Amino acid sequence: MTALGVPVKAKYREGLEKMGIRTVRELLLELPYAWEEYGQALPVAWLQPGHQATVTGQLTSIKRAFARNRRTYLEARLADDHGGVLKVLWFNKPWLLDQLQPGSRLVLAGTVKGSPQRPEMVNPDHELVGSGALRRVGGLMPKYHLRGEMTHKKMAELVAAALPLAGGLEETLPEEVRARHRLLPLVQTIRVAHTADREAEWVEAKRRIQFAELFELQLAFLIQRSEFAQEPATPVPYRQDVIDTFKAGLGFDLTRAQRRATWEIYQDMEKEVPMNRLLNGDVGAGKTAVAAAAVAMAHAAELQSLVMAPTEILARQHLQKFRAYLEASFPDLKVELLVSGQPAAERRRVLTAAASGHCALLVGTHALIEGSVQMNRLGLAVVDEQHRFGTRQRELLRAKAGEGKPHFLALTATPIPRSLALAVYGDMALSVIDELPPGRTPVKTEVVTADDRDRAYRLVRQEVAAGRQAFVICPLIEESEKLQVTAATVEYERLQQKVFPDLRLALVHGRMKEKDAVMEEFRAGRSQVLVATPVIEVGVDIPNATVMVIEGAERFGLAQLHQFRGRVGRGAAESYCLLFADDASESSLRRLQLLEVENDGFLLAHEDMRLRGAGELMGSKQHGVSDEAMAGLEHPVLLSEVRLEAERTLAEDPGLRRQPALRAAVARRLELTSIS
Ligand code: ADP
Ligand code: MG
Repeated sequence: MTALGVPVKAKYREGLEKMGIRTVRELLLELPYAWEEYGQALPVAWLQPGHQATVTGQLTSIKRAFARNRRTYLEARLADDHGGVLKVLWFNKPWLLDQLQPGSRLVLAGTVKGSPQRPEMVNPDHELVGSGALRRVGGLMPKYHLRGEMTHKKMAELVAAALPLAGGLEETLPEEVRARHRLLPLVQTIRVAHTADREAEWVEAKRRIQFAELFELQLAFLIQRSEFAQEPATPVPYRQDVIDTFKAGLGFDLTRAQRRATWEIYQDMEKEVPMNRLLNGDVGAGKTAVAAAAVAMAHAAELQSLVMAPTEILARQHLQKFRAYLEASFPDLKVELLVSGQPAAERRRVLTAAASGHCALLVGTHALIEGSVQMNRLGLAVVDEQHRFGTRQRELLRAKAGEGKPHFLALTATPIPRSLALAVYGDMALSVIDELPPGRTPVKTEVVTADDRDRAYRLVRQEVAAGRQAFVICPLIEESEKLQVTAATVEYERLQQKVFPDLRLALVHGRMKEKDAVMEEFRAGRSQVLVATPVIEVGVDIPNATVMVIEGAERFGLAQLHQFRGRVGRGAAESYCLLFADDASESSLRRLQLLEVENDGFLLAHEDMRLRGAGELMGSKQHGVSDEAMAGLEHPVLLSEVRLEAERTLAEDPGLRRQPALRAAVARRLELTSIS
């Protein structure tokens, strides 16, 4: 089963591709994350835009109308039994004119549009009253995690067309596992999951889906772990004097959470099995200092370290931080930088220092995994912003040790909920920094609607007048980097000419050669307002910046906005985050307003996951774990049962050779979990 089997319009196909669906199999396995009940019919007066609703009433008019592009549509009015009138539009359904007349009694179900005063429905489901059982309307409607222009209705249609092919899907769960846990067979599960009529039917399907997914995940992680452990690492003995020296040179006290994480890392590094640990913490939680503590210990054992960052700007910032944390306390611990744009002579010098062992810590970008980089005795590899790299890149980095493997530590950019971390990085041990260093004042955050722009710009002006600086983040345009760059350029020019003609503005985006120079100018305070595309500045530390303006805030997830917000409030001064949301719906305004009151990154990430699905949190790529499985990851008993079955299965059939369907499913997971 490869193609989708039915012709699909380009815009829907794009949506599907973003959802990770290219084949019938993938379509059928994209199960609804929930079912929405349209429920009881409501009076029109009670309808709330943005919500699903059911309305009963009588058609008072229905006629053909012309859209601006001269296409026709149907426009109707439905009067409910309480004096309310609902406007209804149907596009591409001319045949309805034959079915429906003024006087027809209808049940309509759909999403409410328009305003509370003038509610509308566009292409609602309908059922003529008295036409037999009301099956679809008032029943359950599957909800899928959609992307792009995909709609629930279209999904339901495509799934309905594909369902007859479900019989061709091979069972992935071993027979005995299914029997022991009384789980539905795959084919039946898929049928039920997509077409459930009642909650009760859906429950057994959910249980099977959850179990099977967790089982595949556990298998994938067990396999990954055993591969990871195949080559030994050099143990790094713990030395109290090293950590004492490190702490003394820091200039601040490590938080309790940082100390705990550091200790967990040291315990791993003492072993011969290579460490494989994820350090998960909020923006500004101080992950770098913990990584530096690990570097110091490796150095004391005469082992070198590598730190890889996703961008050159971040790599340079790391260079400064690691030097500040380490070089004064450990005079022979030399930190060097390797990025692609360096002059050849400098590059040669750094490469020689790395190969001779003279350089103890090499910080850099992707340039680190190139063939020319050779370490003398690599003991520790650190990756910042793990989600931007794939397994292959991690393996290339680990291979720099030559013989044996280094201990491996990954840092997250933003906090990710524990369950998601387990789902995506389940092969790794997890350390969580759930505490910010003391003395941080929360960034004052405000959602700004179109009318309030002037006031917001006055605030920027006022801060700049006080000698501070501001960021302006341009809206996210997922479709094309080029468009993104254009949009940022236009915004930069608008701000410079119309809004802040007297201020020094700068523009930075990913397609620019001189981006580091621009960042440096900003850091040095020579520009006052930095206009940036969303991808460029993540992670950059500029203590003098006190205002973060985010345009098109409604297009971002809460976790991402929180991450941007973390760029300010790094110094002692009061800081502000202004979320411009001109096009936000009622519900996305409510979502954004959570940032006004909530400062806990883990909580915000969790809320994102609940509201927008886990895929959003990990960036645009699918992580391939359903919400059911995610919920299961929070149940230790279920998890340990699943793990036991996974261990048993691997013990009996190590390469899963006797179970090709399962093996393929696990292989797909291994690919999906290595987000690259
Ligand atoms: P992130 O976890 O986002 O990578 P960083 O490591 O960049 O955070 O740390 C953010 C800032 O907090 C840095 O300027 C760092 O020096 C400072 N910092 C880290 N730990 C502490 C601490 N325990 N006390 C005070 N400041 C700290
Ligand atoms: Mg960081």
